[in-house]
Formats: sequence, structure tokens, C-alpha cells
Amino acid sequence: MEYRELGRTGEKVSVIGMGCWGLGLSRDASEWAREIASLQRGIELGMNLIDTAERYSSGRSEELVREAVKDRRDDTFIATKVAPPNLRHDAVIRACMDSIKRLGVSYIDLYQIHWPDPGVPIKDTMSAMERLVQDGLVRYIGVSNFSVSETEAARAALAKNEIASNQVEYALTNRSVEADILPYCVREKITLMAYSPLAHGHIARSVPGSILQKYGMAPAQAMLNWVTRNEQVVAIPKAGNIRHQEENASSVAIRFSAADYEKMSSV
Ligand code: NAP
Repeated sequence: MEYRELGRTGEKVSVIGMGCWGLGLSRDASEWAREIASLQRGIELGMNLIDTAERYSSGRSEELVREAVKDRRDDTFIATKVAPPNLRHDAVIRACMDSIKRLGVSYIDLYQIHWPDPGVPIKDTMSAMERLVQDGLVRYIGVSNFSVSETEAARAALAKNEIASNQVEYALTNRSVEADILPYCVREKITLMAYSPLAHGHIARSVPGSILQKYGMAPAQAMLNWVTRNEQVVAIPKAGNIRHQEENASSVAIRFSAADYEKMSSV
């Protein structure tokens, strides 16, 4: 596995992490066991970055993460999110405590604002985030679905901490962040955490067969290799089964040539 620094934190996270949207959605306990086993296999393969949210499956996703990491907490970097309508100061603190309980951990590595809410002053949310860092309950602060100007406002609202990451949608089939968010993150050394990097499972049919053959990769692996070609990007595909998790973990074992990245970008 390849690791990259998260923002300017000095912390190394796996370039391919594990998304947890939809985990625990089923009522079938055997499905949960499969999802937990998939996360545990990912941890074994060095995927330390795990991304969940209070909103995912009404908290059940965080509870499944607890099961997956309970014996391997030191090998993991847990990112979760606080969502609107919990962005006012006291609500952020409460939401964080609830997430910590569901995750069964003593601290969250990266606490992210899931979506901006123009109805809540960003200073209000960020003062709570800084309080959580000061109290040792959160290590780093991130945002998600923030535009460049919203990220600037979030940074300006922080007194002592920095924004480590912005989690936004980015895939071969959805490149809108390349217009401004990606160049901004590169310039400011903020990690761009690419969500839905496999286009929600609609694997691109456009990856040239010559590239797949040359590197011996499946199309999903090529998509992950491509989306993380920039040093400032990490990706968090969701894999509910071990076979997919293993494929994703080995998707960056070899890096494509610049010409091949260009070839993929242009189809
Ligand atoms: P995704 O990762 O783009 O795609 C997931 C789909 O791809 C699943 O159906 C999965 O199937 C399939 N898949 C995984 N690995 C595969 C492989 N090697 N070959 C073929 N298919 C494969 O979609 P996503 O869940 O939307 O996004 C990933 C994560 O990003 C989420 O879980 C969440 O953590 C985060 N996210 C964040 C936001 C936000 O607002 N911040 C929004 C959306 C997502 P199986 O499950 O059967 O393996």
C-alpha cells in the first residue's frame, strides 16, 4: 500500500481507503458479518483510512466500523462526519460524543463537516471543532462538499488548527473538481479525499483495453489508480466484499506512466 500525508498533519493515510456508506443498511446479520470481514481484510492489507459518518445507515455504519477495528485500532485512521442539522456549537459536541460511542473509540482521527450549511455561521461549528481537538476527542479537522470559497471561510474561522482535507466526489467519470477544488487543494496542501471514485459501482467502460492489459488490472483498479495520480489525492471506494477490497488494495501497486494517465483522461 502507498501512503500519503494528510494535509500538513504529518500523518500518513493509505492512498486507497475504505468508504462505509451503506454498511449496515441491510437487516440481515450475515450481510453485516460480510461487511465487517471486508473491512478487516482491508486493514490487513494496509488500508488504514476508514471513512464513515453519523448519517450512514442511521449510525449503524459506525457500529460496524467498531466491530471491524476493535482489535486493530492502532492500525487504523478513522474519519467520520457531522451532518447538518448538527452544525451548531453544542450540537457538534453532542454528535461527536455519540459517534465516539458508536465507534467504540476514545478519539476520532479526522472529524469532517459532511455538508456546508449556510444557515449556521461557520465560526460556530469551527469553535466546537477546535474545542474537540483541545479536549483530545478529535485529532484533525476536515470538510466535505465544500467549494473553494467555503473552504477559505472554514480556514479563516479556525484559530489554532488547519483544515486537513476536503472530501468531494471525484472519479474518471466525474471530473468537475479539476476546475478549481483540486488545484486549490494542491496549492494549499489540503488532501482531496475522492468519494465515489468508482462512480457508485458504474465502472467506466472507457478504460482502454491496452492499459488494462499492460498493467494487468481490472477496470475498477485502473479507475482508482487514475484518480490518485495526483499526490494530493486519496480515494475511499466502498467494497462490501473481500474480493473487491483486495482488488482495490492492489490497485496502486504499480503506477501508470504519465502517457497512460493522459490516455485515460482523454477518452
Ligand atoms: P463507490 O466507492 O464509487 O462505489 C461503490 C460500489 O462499487 C459498490 O457497489 C461496490 O460493490 C462496487 N465496487 C467496489 N470495489 C469494486 C471493484 N473492485 N470492482 C467492481 N466493483 C467494485 O461509491 P460510494 O460508496 O458512493 O463512495 C465511496 C465512499 O465515499 C462512501 O462509502 C462514503 O464513505 C464516501 N461518500 C461520501 C459522500 C459525502 O457526501 N461526503 C458521498 C458519497 C460517498 P460491493 O459493495 O458489492 O463491493
